[in-house]
Amino acid sequence: MIFSVDINNRIYKIDSANPLDVSIPLDFNGAQPNAYDVEKATATACESENLIGDTRRGGSCNFEQIKFIPHCNGTHTECVGHLTDERISIYNCLKDAFIFAALVSIEPENAYQTNETYTIELTETDKLITRRAIENALQKLANPESRIPNPKFDGLIIRTLPNDESKKRRAYMENPPPFFSTEAMNYIAEKGVKHLLVDMPSIDRAFDEGKLSNHRIFWNVAPDSRAINEASLIHNTVTEMIYVPDEIRDGAYLLNLQIASFAADASPSRPLLFKIYE
Ligand SMILES: [Zn+2]
Repeated sequence: MIFSVDINNRIYKIDSANPLDVSIPLDFNGAQPNAYDVEKATATACESENLIGDTRRGGSCNFEQIKFIPHCNGTHTECVGHLTDERISIYNCLKDAFIFAALVSIEPENAYQTNETYTIELTETDKLITRRAIENALQKLANPESRIPNPKFDGLIIRTLPNDESKKRRAYMENPPPFFSTEAMNYIAEKGVKHLLVDMPSIDRAFDEGKLSNHRIFWNVAPDSRAINEASLIHNTVTEMIYVPDEIRDGAYLLNLQIASFAADASPSRPLLFKIYE
């Protein structure tokens, strides 16, 4: 089906039958990405005395028990409940079904070669996604010849470079991922981005003394606080461990962020991008 959509007072089209999937399928029997060296995600046929949830073993149908950690085993979307004592759920926070989003490719910079900073002291091997790099990438999209001039994006999708398929099965403890500088995260917040999607397991440093400072900036939660306040942005979401194949070009898309309706701070997710036509 072809849909007409009104974005910033101009009419564009999308083809609902041709989404571009930027999730990492969670293969319970194969290679998986992994943060913090947690156990692999597993799916096991349910079994009792006279019942087996596996047709190959004589069961009437397949039904499996799935065990996984959304934050560590693959593509997932999380809400502010990731930080708070109050158990705030992703199914309640994510209200936007369609999101006007920018996809940009970013080359992380060596922490010692930029003047941008982070909440804890950086080491020589840290790599930062900087404000400067995001600003440059967004400026390119906003040029007058682009399909959508002067855009205001509710979604920002970051593809880090280099980009290769090993992201679909990467063990992040052995391959520390880049993360955002404080300046970059303040910039994203200033721009009013509501939905941030990244191909790393976290927007913060994996070991950050538990501060999760970028997460707190994004949701407007005070440093070290475990509670939301009146200005917290409870309908914002962060999606981590996506994979955006090279064939999908930087640009503007309509994003449909699909989640499981979990009463939990995070859910596995499948972000779909739709190309926008004139
Ligand atoms: Zn997470």
